[in-house]
Amino acid sequence: MNAIGRFLQMVTFPELLKGMAITTKYLAKPKVTESYPDARPVLPYRTKGRLHVEIETCISCRMCEKACPEGCIRVYPPPKEVFKTDKRPAEFYLNQEHCLHCGLCVDPCPTGSIHHSQEFELAVVHYDDLLFDKETLPYDLDQKRFRWNLLENVPVKK
Ligand code: SF4
Ligand code: SF4
Repeated sequence: MNAIGRFLQMVTFPELLKGMAITTKYLAKPKVTESYPDARPVLPYRTKGRLHVEIETCISCRMCEKACPEGCIRVYPPPKEVFKTDKRPAEFYLNQEHCLHCGLCVDPCPTGSIHHSQEFELAVVHYDDLLFDKETLPYDLDQKRFRWNLLENVPVKK
């Protein structure tokens, strides 16, 4: 570039103009960013978030426990004499810390008692905060609609 070319470049700031042109072009386009956490994102219907377990409908069959590749679930059925009338587990443990969110425990559950939710904020301060027992297991009936039917892929009725 000769001296005149360099002089013209100095006085017209072509890079600046190019940058402003790009900015102007994107100003007119719709926004693609979200104002999280002020605005909650709309997640896909089949998002596999935090597991929820409804102990009241659980029949202690242990299908979820056997299906889990990570050994996150431990189900202890009640004593035989109690089981005849009340099949709810004596103990139910879920280690969400090792959970892969694979959904393999959800599919075989005959009662729909274990299912994913749309909760995705799983960061905790203490490891223990991701260990759940019967009393502390997350459960929210409203989230059950996100349990999709394996064969039909439609929401189950509440
Ligand atoms: S989602 Fe997968 S890894 Fe997590 S508890 Fe269920 S089977 Fe185990
Ligand atoms: S598969 Fe369902 S019913 Fe069976 S133990 Fe697990 S949560 Fe309970």
